[in-house]
Amino acid sequence: MPELLSVESAVTRILESFRPLPVEHVELVESLGRVLGADVRASFDAPPFANSSMDGFAVIAQDTQGAEQQQPARLRVVADIPAGTMPTRALLAGEAARIMTGAPLPEGANAVVPVEQTDQNWRSGENHPPSAYVSIYRTVNPGAYVRPRGEDFFTGDTVLPALTPIRPQELGLLAALGSQRVPVIRQPRVVILSTGDELLDVDQPLAPGKIRDANGYTLYGLVKTYGGLPIRLPIIRDTLADARARFQAALALQPDIILSSAGVSVGAFDVVRAVVEELGAINFWRVNLRPGKPLAFGHVGGVPFFGLPGNPVSAMVTFDVFVRPALLRLTEQPDAVPTITAVLEEDTPSDGRRSYLRVKLRRDGATWVATMTGTQSSGALTSMVKADGIIIIPEGVTLARAGEPFAVRLLRDIH
Ligand code: AMP
Ligand code: MG
Repeated sequence: MPELLSVESAVTRILESFRPLPVEHVELVESLGRVLGADVRASFDAPPFANSSMDGFAVIAQDTQGAEQQQPARLRVVADIPAGTMPTRALLAGEAARIMTGAPLPEGANAVVPVEQTDQNWRSGENHPPSAYVSIYRTVNPGAYVRPRGEDFFTGDTVLPALTPIRPQELGLLAALGSQRVPVIRQPRVVILSTGDELLDVDQPLAPGKIRDANGYTLYGLVKTYGGLPIRLPIIRDTLADARARFQAALALQPDIILSSAGVSVGAFDVVRAVVEELGAINFWRVNLRPGKPLAFGHVGGVPFFGLPGNPVSAMVTFDVFVRPALLRLTEQPDAVPTITAVLEEDTPSDGRRSYLRVKLRRDGATWVATMTGTQSSGALTSMVKADGIIIIPEGVTLARAGEPFAVRLLRDIH
């Protein structure tokens, strides 16, 4: 009997086979969802010049001292500064410049008075020249409605550190910085193989004794969710020749990981095991978890290989526990899953292995309460669809009691 591994020591052993992937350069829009591969520094100040945050009048704050509705300050309008232009002259005492949001403040000005606080109004779209004088209805302090130069960042600032995941806001910032091509960590290429004579693909009609391949798609989704590039190959039939051909086709794609589901237990037709032993090496570990039969981990032609269980829930749970950390290691992302603590609604028997059970969550005051989603059969994929999370009953527990708190990995946002 091989030793019984804890989940942690299995993960540690697996991670030994994974090193971060190299950096490549992609077009700006292609970098969305990727991981930044190098620090990005600013080569200019942003904004590059002090500018107005309102449509109004650039003024010298001192000139508005004491101004109010009844007693406005009257200033001579000497310039008009639309956004995208540069002021052509400095303001002197008693002068104002009409200015639009985002336009640079003229030399000498140190504040802006919004148009609503003057006697002026202009309808947008109509480009009338400003009138010769403006009455200012309030006192503004120096800096009012002015966005100072460098408010966002300064030249030389590391505005995006390496390993930042690129979301819409990072994409926009990269664009603002003029990054037409972006260094990103290469995406892990993950080949996904489903095996079994009983499997049909989604476009095939059901037939006696057959089921459709679900794992090929759950694993596709999981790989994509964690930043990988999933590549599904056709279903492997339970013959050595077919399995060999598919694994060779997988290797030709130069993947970083090969994932298969089913066909690695001791069934008479479990051909994957034989082929992996022929092309590489496989270890079967008894890991102290449920669901999840013995975990097969090894390599095929030097590529790390995971043989996941065939049952759809088991395939998803073992991906989450073992494959996800490996995938995240390849792009140097932290393995952080949203987890809450919930108490069990009912006494729940367990079998002493670390158990991952599908639960619905509801709030009771400040406490989250977890209820099983009906059948916990590892063949029932609807249990994953219904679940708000997966409650983890630790190893050694044979009866988890109602009211006892446990960790729950969230599968969806809860409120
Ligand atoms: P096995 O590991 O081959 O013994 O398969 C375990 C169970 O998972 C069997 O009931 C299979 O029919 C089922 N199964 C295997 N592969 C898939 C798949 N790709 N999609 C859905 N169910 C599967
Ligand atoms: Mg099978």
